[in-house]
Amino acid sequence: MLDADFFRRWMTATAASVAREAGHLTDLDSPIGDADHGANLQRGFTAVAATLEKEAPDTPGAVLTLTGRQLISTVGGASGPLYGTLLRRTGKALGDAAEVSEEEFAAALRTGVDAVMTLGGAAPGDKTMIDALVPAVDALPGGFAAARAAAEEGAVATTPLQAHKGRASYLGERSIGHQDPGATSSALLIAALQEAAEATGE
Ligand code: ADP
Ligand code: MG
Repeated sequence: MLDADFFRRWMTATAASVAREAGHLTDLDSPIGDADHGANLQRGFTAVAATLEKEAPDTPGAVLTLTGRQLISTVGGASGPLYGTLLRRTGKALGDAAEVSEEEFAAALRTGVDAVMTLGGAAPGDKTMIDALVPAVDALPGGFAAARAAAEEGAVATTPLQAHKGRASYLGERSIGHQDPGATSSALLIAALQEAAEATGE
């Protein structure tokens, strides 16, 4: 079972890897965007880590809804409302249980990913974060390591795609040949699940 501590560890592990990879994310956002993705997410997840420490929400759902609200108010850019929606809606779907099973979490994350697709209008293949998140959710019943591998593969597979959503879509065919920054950061988010699980040997 996954408790509030697990979800706090998930968010602090994400904050750490976003901080570590911020330069890389911004570099990816340079040829097909406006070179702010790393800075946007680092600002957001730094604020999330501080808020979670201060408010210490005590259910999985509360950890994720608080995270989502914080991201919406601090990240800015297209990715702020999208990541905020992902975590807020996943948290809402978890309700107020003190612990959730991995199956319940997988179903809730699917609800969150669906909400991102509704909000942003992107489908798989549009060269966005959805190209990492959908494969991750599909693989999640096989465990966190499988979800991580699927997300990383999905992010790499955005390189030959032409962007159809977001700022990169303004470039048309010139968006081809660059890995999508949001898919790359989504793979970090999913990878952090495994890190959070390993921190207690689950
Ligand atoms: P901005 O594009 O406003 O500068 P960011 O640089 O923080 O915002 O984030 C860009 C990332 O957001 C893209 O790489 C892409 O993955 C994601 N993104 C942009 N628009 C959408 C959308 N409509 N649906 C899903 N993801 C999107
Ligand atoms: Mg940008």
